[in-house]
Amino acid sequence: MYPLKTIVKYNPLNLADSANTFTTVYLGNYVPGNFNEGVGSHCGVDIFPIVTHDNIYACMDGVVGMAENKPADGNCIVIRHDNVPDPLDMTKKTTLYSCHLHLSEMSVTVGQLVSEGDVIGKSGNTGNVTGSTGEHLHFQIDRAEAPFHPYWPFTFADSKAAGLGFFESVNAGLGLENAKKFTVNPLVYLDRIETYNGTSPASVTPVVSKPIVSSVLVASLENTNPRSNVKKSTDSVPSNMWGFSDVPSNYPYATAINFLKSKGIVGGNNGQFHPEATVTRAELLKMVFGAAWVPLATGQQNYFSDIDPASWQAPYANTAKINNIIGGYPDGTFRPNNPITRAEAFKIIINTFHSGVLDTVSFPVFQDVTVTDWTAPYANFAKAQELIAFSGNAFEPNKLMNRGEVASAIYALMNRG
Ligand SMILES: [Zn+2]
Repeated sequence: MYPLKTIVKYNPLNLADSANTFTTVYLGNYVPGNFNEGVGSHCGVDIFPIVTHDNIYACMDGVVGMAENKPADGNCIVIRHDNVPDPLDMTKKTTLYSCHLHLSEMSVTVGQLVSEGDVIGKSGNTGNVTGSTGEHLHFQIDRAEAPFHPYWPFTFADSKAAGLGFFESVNAGLGLENAKKFTVNPLVYLDRIETYNGTSPASVTPVVSKPIVSSVLVASLENTNPRSNVKKSTDSVPSNMWGFSDVPSNYPYATAINFLKSKGIVGGNNGQFHPEATVTRAELLKMVFGAAWVPLATGQQNYFSDIDPASWQAPYANTAKINNIIGGYPDGTFRPNNPITRAEAFKIIINTFHSGVLDTVSFPVFQDVTVTDWTAPYANFAKAQELIAFSGNAFEPNKLMNRGEVASAIYALMNRG
């Protein structure tokens, strides 16, 4: 019965049709027979299987990020999909996470690459599934900006503070704004990209042209810049605090630096940015993780012998290790205070943004990088995406990266078209 996009046509005007198998709709509530979207904070769709323990298929190509049993979610598979059309602007690419809950069986493991249509498991009733709903698939798609996956828009503490139980909280729409911000209607999205393959993005019919019964969806599509609707609080930087005295408007990376400042991603010192100054390895992680909204590791494990677990550097270095963004040195150190080289910086920045960089390259673009260098894929990507201004044909992998260049690379990836 899955993937849904090839089996069941999403029709927002007819969600109550007995032919469909949806029990609880996106942003719906648990009131039986209620198929209205936007009235509750259920941030996925619940789908009855056609047969017990029905096959569940990957909806798009991706890599398995989670395949584990969790108390509420039961057997839960999360797949990361890189370079897929951004639901807020189909002409752009983004990363999304598809989440499959309550499975009876999981047939993939973390790190496994899956293709659209691959069987990843079977539907079930593990986790928090009440008797009345019975076996179903809870299917949702999270945006990369969600602080964790599968995203849920309220915590137990939030429910308690509101004096509500779990189901009452969903029915009351607790956390609805966060649900809209960090998830997308998975059925609408998959229907939209069904015609995406092989067609130019511009020709994809935008979902707003479909009959939409809920204003929620329309509202969520109005903002065409997915990055601009996050970190709202930092947009309130007073205008007299914009800009740095040592970054004149004609400075090569002035736009990038001022953009990151306005988002609260970089700061300065006494009104100066020091764009030519070097960046330590830990400082770089802080900047790029802030820009990419990478959730920081909060576990107790400390991976590097030269980092104090209580230091500010620890969560950044541990997060980099856990996410395979950078592994540290063979002797088990991270050397957080060392200035970072171009080669190292591009590896971290590009990996953090899941940019789909290739493992190998077939041709060199710089005279000082050979195709077998580990840095070659990053160097070629940096050149192709114009992450910084290179001088001539030189990548200068061991040159220290300066703050202005870091800002330029992050800015370019945040705003990649
Ligand atoms: Zn559900």
